[in-house]
Formats: sequence, structure tokens, C-alpha cells
Amino acid sequence: MDMQTYQDLMLAVDLSKDEKKLILEKRQKQCLCRQCPTYMECSGEEASVFCTIGKSNCITREIECLCPTCPFAAEFGLKNTFFCTRGSEKQQLLVETLQVRKTWVE
Ligand code: SF4
Ligand code: SF4
Repeated sequence: MDMQTYQDLMLAVDLSKDEKKLILEKRQKQCLCRQCPTYMECSGEEASVFCTIGKSNCITREIECLCPTCPFAAEFGLKNTFFCTRGSEKQQLLVETLQVRKTWVE
């Protein structure tokens, strides 16, 4: 994770509910999920910006992920993809860290 992403995550922890809502609305404008082949399975679903909100309640099949071409992902240096099925950037980073820790202990 680069410093900018880390700072953004730390800042997000301290934001108020309204501030978080504003950020989510801004990200929704940049989000490419609704044009993504994987999203089509649940095209009636309202949710997007899965990198921030976490897994979809509907999408189960991974076909293709447009996140690597998303301006938001580039701006914040997101490392992961398929947020709709695997969880938010934060969740995937956490799982990755826990798995690394587990191998240290074993
Ligand atoms: S990185 Fe993916 S989930 Fe996040 S805003 Fe971009 S397209 Fe949407
Ligand atoms: S997170 Fe990736 S795979 Fe899922 S809908 Fe968005 S662009 Fe498609």
C-alpha cells in the first residue's frame, strides 16, 4: 500500500457519516462497475463502488473486472480487484496480512 492510500484510509476512519456519504457519491461518478460484464448478473442492483463498500449481495460469478482501468483505482493505487465478490480493498488487504501472519506463526 502506498503512503497516499494509507493516509486516505486513516482519514476515512475519522470521517463523519455525512462526509463518508459525500465521498461515496463522488466515487460513484467515477465507478465503472455498472459497465462491467461481472455486474450484468445483477444489473438491477443499486450498489456499486464495491472497492469501498465491500461485497455485493447479489454478484457471485467473476467474469471480468474493470477496476484496473478505473480512474479512482489509479488515483488511490488500489492493489486488488473483484471487490464485488472478494470484499473491499481494506478487507482484502486485511485478509492478505492475516494470511502472511499465519504463515509466520506456522
Ligand atoms: S475501483 Fe472498481 S469498484 Fe472501485 S470505483 Fe473503480 S470500478 Fe468501482
Ligand atoms: S468490482 Fe470489478 S468485477 Fe466487480 S462489478 Fe466492479 S468492475 Fe466488475
